[in-house]
Amino acid sequence: LYPEEFRRQAHLVVDFLADYYSNIEKYPVCSQVKPGYLTKAMPKSAPLQPEPIETILQDVQKHIIPGITHWQSPGFFGYFQSNGSTGNFLGEMLLTGFNTVGFNWLASPAATELEMVVMEWLLKLLQLPKSFSFSSDGGGVIHGSTCESFVCTLIAAREKKLSQSRVERDDLGKLVVYCSDQTHFSLQKACQVVGISPNNIRSIRTRRSMNFQLSPKALLMAIESDVKAGLIPLYICLTVGTTPTTAVDPLLTLSDIAKRFHMWAHVDAAYAGSACICPEFRHFLNGVEGVDSFSFNPHKWFLTTLDCCCLWVKERIDLTKALSNDPELLKNKASDTKKVVDYKDWQIALSRRFRAMKLWMVIRSYGVTGLQEVIRKHVKLAKYFEALLFADNKFEVVVPRNFAMVCFRVSPLALATVANDSSNEDSNRLTQTLLESLNGSGVVYMTHAVIEGVYVIRVAIGSTLIEEKHVSMLWDMVQEYASNLLANFNN
Ligand code: PLP
Repeated sequence: LYPEEFRRQAHLVVDFLADYYSNIEKYPVCSQVKPGYLTKAMPKSAPLQPEPIETILQDVQKHIIPGITHWQSPGFFGYFQSNGSTGNFLGEMLLTGFNTVGFNWLASPAATELEMVVMEWLLKLLQLPKSFSFSSDGGGVIHGSTCESFVCTLIAAREKKLSQSRVERDDLGKLVVYCSDQTHFSLQKACQVVGISPNNIRSIRTRRSMNFQLSPKALLMAIESDVKAGLIPLYICLTVGTTPTTAVDPLLTLSDIAKRFHMWAHVDAAYAGSACICPEFRHFLNGVEGVDSFSFNPHKWFLTTLDCCCLWVKERIDLTKALSNDPELLKNKASDTKKVVDYKDWQIALSRRFRAMKLWMVIRSYGVTGLQEVIRKHVKLAKYFEALLFADNKFEVVVPRNFAMVCFRVSPLALATVANDSSNEDSNRLTQTLLESLNGSGVVYMTHAVIEGVYVIRVAIGSTLIEEKHVSMLWDMVQEYASNLLANFNN
């Protein structure tokens, strides 16, 4: 790496990205390429000789951009957003530029300590209980994804169970994990990794009449029946802001039940955790003091790009006992003192990125008030879209909106006015067609969920460049496309 040439090339890339953001609305939001398009366009072997950055960037423009789904576009309303910011990009540049591998304190003291600092800042911002702090027996770590946090906390829970009760290694097949049918599917993956049999995952059914919250009564019944059958309750995943509808589980009651059965309770607030930095949304975390661990993803709604999942645990010893090793190669005096944090013992991998740098840059460059403003702006836009839906009887808002995501469908009542005979299936079919035609326009992109047999369009508001005019444009399109579909319903 030659510093001057690095400077020149990096400037070209920054210019390229600034142009990309200026032009982002010109691209179809969801990529329209066909499978295999890039394999056909690329040479079969790697180039033998170095190529100039200018040529490479031309190829990015010609071949890569058409195959990108533009998550940062203001027309992107799909999944949950993964928004970014200038502070984050610059932080990402710095952390990649330093390219440290801070697996233990000594390998990069700043990487470890900045992570601890940022996690303590966030702990205060979210008003998490003191017990999650490094100043008590807890602490926070940045993982790459929620799945990783699930795996690590599941292993910690398993080892704790083995050490505390009369559970033997031979009994591992009896351990049971509880969640709801709205819990993110990465919990299933984590259980596969950890070796929890799919037969021992209780995905408890939720109901629309209860806004898709996990019912304490149903949980209790499931646990009692398992205990009766000689199984061992291990872990429960509670969610604040479920993926299909942003439902919020009642943390306090559920964590009380978990305690009664000596289970580990984890809260997954991957999306909605960010909103809880605003006092008016903090109540969604009420009861978090009763759980063993909590995670949220700044890489969704906190202006921080992938990958960044913040995990706190109440008893850091549970995590480090389960995940530590002490190879000769890494022995050093600082670790020997046991007074430093060696983050390799808080995660799956050994090596780790200096992710705290970008989070620190985001928090500093926006300030708490700036971050709160962003969240409030997105929620306000979601409210605006929801109000438009409420005022039009062609549509039904299917679940109450908690944050900045609205779930709607073509109302069966609207269908009944154009068809002699209409059913839930007709509404599902029409809503799906509506979604496909809107997405096919290339101007907007949304995704769907099916909840209790109802097909809904999810409108997640919070992409990096979103403004009111984009929500108005979405609304105009939704109305126009739905009116056409309804007019032609019987044809
Ligand atoms: N949990 C919830 C509630 C989610 O909505 C998602 C993704 O949308 C995840 C977990 C998984 O997120 P990731 O893999 O980005 O950590």
